Amino acid sequence: MNIACPTCKKPSAPRAENKAFPFCCERCRLIDLGAWLSESYRVPVGPDETERDGVTEDEAAGLVRGSGDLPN
Ligand SMILES: [Zn+2]
Repeated sequence: MNIACPTCKKPSAPRAENKAFPFCCERCRLIDLGAWLSESYRVPVGPDETERDGVTEDEAAGLVRGSGDLPN
């Protein structure tokens, strides 16, 4: 029975002959790890963070507007 590599969906070799199991290779394992890390880095940014820095919601919104607006 073959397991599909979570990264590239190709069949992975069995655990006995595959260090990177359930991935098909070490490269796919690292790609998946990197994707997972970048996902988790986005989570901690929330309302609590801005409050702790003494920035009100209006100030924070102004900062986002100022840096995000591009001239049309
Ligand atoms: Zn793969």
